[in-house]
Amino acid sequence: MILRDARLFDGREELATKGAIRFDPESGRIEAVGDVEPQGEEPSMSLPGHTVLPGLVDAHVHFSLSGQATIEDVVGTSDADLAFTEAANARTTLEAGVTSVRAMGARDLDVRLKRAIERGDVPGPRMVANCRSITITGGHGHHLGREVDGPVECRRAVREQIKKGAEFIKFMATGGVTTPGTDPRTLAFTYEEMEALIDEAHRRGVHVATHAHGAPGVKAAVEAGVDTVEHGTFMDEEAIDMLIAHDVTLVPTLSAPYRIARNTDRATEESIRKTDSVHDRHIEAFKRAVDAGVRIAGGTDAGTPFNYHGTNSTEISFMVEHAMDPVDAVVAMTGTAAETIGLEDAGTLEAGNYADLLVIEGNPLEDVSLLREPTAVLKGGEIVSGTLPDPQD
Ligand SMILES: [Zn+2]
Repeated sequence: MILRDARLFDGREELATKGAIRFDPESGRIEAVGDVEPQGEEPSMSLPGHTVLPGLVDAHVHFSLSGQATIEDVVGTSDADLAFTEAANARTTLEAGVTSVRAMGARDLDVRLKRAIERGDVPGPRMVANCRSITITGGHGHHLGREVDGPVECRRAVREQIKKGAEFIKFMATGGVTTPGTDPRTLAFTYEEMEALIDEAHRRGVHVATHAHGAPGVKAAVEAGVDTVEHGTFMDEEAIDMLIAHDVTLVPTLSAPYRIARNTDRATEESIRKTDSVHDRHIEAFKRAVDAGVRIAGGTDAGTPFNYHGTNSTEISFMVEHAMDPVDAVVAMTGTAAETIGLEDAGTLEAGNYADLLVIEGNPLEDVSLLREPTAVLKGGEIVSGTLPDPQD
């Protein structure tokens, strides 16, 4: 199958203003990109005026949450109910054009959802899945996380998550906006705890993400060897320099505070108070990080208050609105995000990679808002939402 006469963006750069891509619907893999001519009776579709790019990769989603005002709303939910919610959110995400995600964990459901998607039982994006986030007793996300105290328990918690199938480890270096009684600016773990946790994960060959708002949390986690920093809200110059020196990727999740700030009539009083103090600083830190050349991977924090699944591409609009070049912002949520979360066969249009494709009318590299209305979304060469013209042969 060939898609032709379309602008091609490969997840790193624009390849052609009028090019073609061949994929094998059987294997679901890309076979050639660029200058491709149909052979024999091979079907092809002409897509003039359209752009073909990789499906988006969201490096930070919460399928267990659906944008409720407070995370406590899901605490009493049974695992069975939560599993259906997760499946619905995964489907919405895929249909919006997000063909891969890193799911930040909740109880132990994400690894099961991933298997269900791979079996074909439910539709959803490719997942890099976690089990429970690791947090100090009473720390951010403790409702759905694994509480720990002390370096030994940090190692045990990492081992437990990996035993249950976690493909990466997430821990909460600071408090959070959505957990009552925690302070986003304050460092939660001791340095020894973080070091033990990260060392244990790396010995087992999995990467480590940390939720960190305050600069002390970012710096300590980076020093201890973390791989990705989520949010980075209050980063100062020193923290930004450290991200570069230690080759750490930032997942800014600009959508999260924006959505709370826009829904103050429905958000909880505590989350509004915390968001007010974070939103401007968050944007400032993001701009500085972009200027300094920090590697940025796109992630939305979808599922957090009013941050609904399926609106993921708006993160790209936010990144562009706040200092990023449109092409760089699309790269952040395709090629770079896939590389960051360890999905080697996704995020770029290359022979051998999955045929996870987004077909957009117009040029989303000039107007990133076009990404919100895909003409068609393909996962593994199969149309999962939208339509394409009938193939000609
Ligand atoms: Zn999150």
